Amino acid sequence: MRIVPLLAALAFCSPVLAGPKDTVRPYPAQKVSADTYVIHGPQGVPSKDNQSFMNNPAWVITADGVVVIDPGSSVQAGRMVVAQLRKTTKMPVTHVFNTHVHGDHWLGNQAILEAWPNATMIAHPDMIKLARNGADAFWIKLMSDMTGGYTDGTRAVIPTVEAADGQEFKIGGKTFRIHSSTDAHSKTDLMIEMVEDRTLFTGDNVLSHQVMNLRDGTFKGVIKATDQALALNARLYVPGHGQSGDRTFVAEQKAYFDTLVSEVRRMYDEGKSDYEMKPVIAEKLKAYKDWAEWDTNFGQQISLAILEIEQE
Ligand SMILES: [Zn+2]
Repeated sequence: MRIVPLLAALAFCSPVLAGPKDTVRPYPAQKVSADTYVIHGPQGVPSKDNQSFMNNPAWVITADGVVVIDPGSSVQAGRMVVAQLRKTTKMPVTHVFNTHVHGDHWLGNQAILEAWPNATMIAHPDMIKLARNGADAFWIKLMSDMTGGYTDGTRAVIPTVEAADGQEFKIGGKTFRIHSSTDAHSKTDLMIEMVEDRTLFTGDNVLSHQVMNLRDGTFKGVIKATDQALALNARLYVPGHGQSGDRTFVAEQKAYFDTLVSEVRRMYDEGKSDYEMKPVIAEKLKAYKDWAEWDTNFGQQISLAILEIEQE
């Protein structure tokens, strides 16, 4: 007899926006330095299981407000990021940097604007251009398809402010210095150096223990960006996916790509084809076999490296 009123009460207590489809399950934020937090998302491609969430949203608390980097893959992921951010500060979000055009990094912008309608969104000029020319719809559909419709309701909030290579954004006593490129992971990539804390947000130009999907980029550009990241000698590196840390994982990525590209080049010059190269290179890179996305991206990388060599 008591169950019915209890259920009725529960039904009335559920706020409209708290349905299971409206925010992804919570992931804790890690405090990585005095003013900086990162939510290290699970590694892998968007899926029903991860509810689309698989990147590393981060935020820096400045004297004037909060700067967010890559608020996630959907409005549902972005809302979870907003909820976790609010546990760390009462300051409003004033700025958002999007590291590149891939939707897992920026479709969460919508949730930031829901909470802080005046936030300024900043990205690479080519990211803005591509998003305005169809990459928005492409990524919204891809996210929906990969999550069985979980991300439906997500809209594209495209950045309006362009960031140039070398440009510095001074926000609330902190300096955000831009290192951009047009030939790296997505050809629309920003790496953001937080100068005072010697932190580098690499976007997907550097991943931690994850084999990169390079179909939209070039090996040449990613290797150059990786070298640049190492040369900055940051205290802390925050990758687009995988755990943050010191330069060790950045150097590991460099060693991985140096081996892969030089081996493809050597065997290409010997007239070998991709299926002949694959087992040889897999053996040389066997230390990396437990990296996330090995099965998805390793073989494809060899084919892409051959294409790149042919275009030189
Ligand atoms: Zn990504």
